[in-house]
Amino acid sequence: MQSKRARLDRYLSKQLTINRKDVRLLLAQGRVKLDGITATSITQLVDEFTQVRLDDEILQDKIPSYIQLHKPKGIVSATTDPKHKTVIDLLPSGAPENLHIVGRLDLNSTGLILLTNDGRWSRRLTEPGFCVKKRYLVGLDKPVTSEVIDAFAEGIYFSYEDLITRPAILSVIEPKLVEVTLEEGRYHQIKRMFGHFQIEVLTLHRFAVGNLVLDGDLKEGQSRQLSQSEIDGITQ
Ligand code: URA
Repeated sequence: MQSKRARLDRYLSKQLTINRKDVRLLLAQGRVKLDGITATSITQLVDEFTQVRLDDEILQDKIPSYIQLHKPKGIVSATTDPKHKTVIDLLPSGAPENLHIVGRLDLNSTGLILLTNDGRWSRRLTEPGFCVKKRYLVGLDKPVTSEVIDAFAEGIYFSYEDLITRPAILSVIEPKLVEVTLEEGRYHQIKRMFGHFQIEVLTLHRFAVGNLVLDGDLKEGQSRQLSQSEIDGITQ
């Protein structure tokens, strides 16, 4: 998704289908307000969440939304699906439209799902360059050996994509229960990494993405808005 920032003159001339000269006139007459403050320059920037008013008319007023949801098994990480319930179906009525999912989980995985309508924020969590850590509790059908732990740390070859996975941390909690930390999110990544050693993943639960931790008070299927410090905390 591209950044949605635009210069005020371009934004107004497109929205109102008027030329730039008329945009200047509107500004000179003090008729345009950005977030409640009279706009003074055509070079001011407008993003998708800037409230823009012309006289008493609201041209845009989109409120950013940031949600964490405890995904149960059997729910699809998608906005629509012909067969299964989606994470969007679990949100309370009145949730904003146009939310997108920040990093999916498989149908049978559980845990932390983030949803937002703020593309810049979600890119900060998902773009590979930022290396945001995702932490999972994984139940296995057999214990891991030190060879598996070392292979996770070194990277495993995925022939389909012709790449080696980034170093991942595997810590043993109980013989068949491990914690895995990934810095990327490839298709069925954890299942495929264990599959390399003929180990089957029986349960997979994501409990953290970067600094955001699944709220222990949220039962499966429940969600809540993130706090301002959680929203801002992803860049720390
Ligand atoms: N890896 C998987 O295999 N599945 C998930 O849902 C997440 C990571």
